[in-house]
Amino acid sequence: MMSNHTASGMDQIFDRALEQNPHSAELLKAFRPVMTRQRRLTDSLTLPSLDYSAVDRNRLRAGVPFIRQIPLFSPEDPLDRIALSLAEAVKEGMPKLTEEMDRLSALISGGKLRWKDCFGARPGGENEEPRASGLCNSPSNASLLWSLTARVLLERRGREASKALEPFDWEKGYCPVCGEFPSIALIEEEGGRRFLHCSSCGQDWRFTRVVCPYCEKEAQKGMDYFYVEGKTQESAFVCDRCKKYLVTLYRAGRLLARDMDVSAVSLVHLDMILQDKGYKPMAACAWNVFE
Ligand SMILES: [Zn+2]
Ligand SMILES: [Zn+2]
Repeated sequence: MMSNHTASGMDQIFDRALEQNPHSAELLKAFRPVMTRQRRLTDSLTLPSLDYSAVDRNRLRAGVPFIRQIPLFSPEDPLDRIALSLAEAVKEGMPKLTEEMDRLSALISGGKLRWKDCFGARPGGENEEPRASGLCNSPSNASLLWSLTARVLLERRGREASKALEPFDWEKGYCPVCGEFPSIALIEEEGGRRFLHCSSCGQDWRFTRVVCPYCEKEAQKGMDYFYVEGKTQESAFVCDRCKKYLVTLYRAGRLLARDMDVSAVSLVHLDMILQDKGYKPMAACAWNVFE
């Protein structure tokens, strides 16, 4: 599986991504401070411990993710601290959002934006993003900050849960931790195994190559990969039944450290092409929704 990267490793990964994907430089620079800060928070946070023994392996086998089995968020989580830290990182990478982030930060510091009230609204997967109703002129910025914050907590909980339960069976195209669909896939050239990656929580899991992760249509024919001319390592899986696509990377070796979220941002040109052709992403991310 793909390894997690420390904040210092992220510097190298971003430098290389910028070198190899100059067309995505603007987006990479925008997300660099945020993703670097997220990795650092994920690694360094002290969280109250959760009991994962209540997770039922049979329900996992049946496709019920962790988040629908036990509460992954706890009222004791340092949500405000994470959100305030990430608001600063957003300002660094996306100066246009400075005013909005300052406003949200003031609300959080003043106890007026209560993320804790939002927990109930996130049963996992195809849930509604919690909104700070009546408090924000622009709810989308609040939900951006919320999803960035949730990612940090979910990644930590996902790691803990996977460790506590390994090995467990998971055969779905959506994430075993949070129930979201993948943002990017990776196929190992040696052995040809496919791994799906969830950008909502950072989890990676193995999934069969002959089935569409979204609608579970079996491959045979009609299941295609889209390539940009001259690029054999980058593609997008497209499904003609559900009309979804999934950006997919091929990996020849294990030499270079990779961060799947950075890769997803690097390959955003594929998102543009596929969306232009009428396909939709399996997961909407902050970088692949064009308006
Ligand atoms: Zn997930
Ligand atoms: Zn499909």
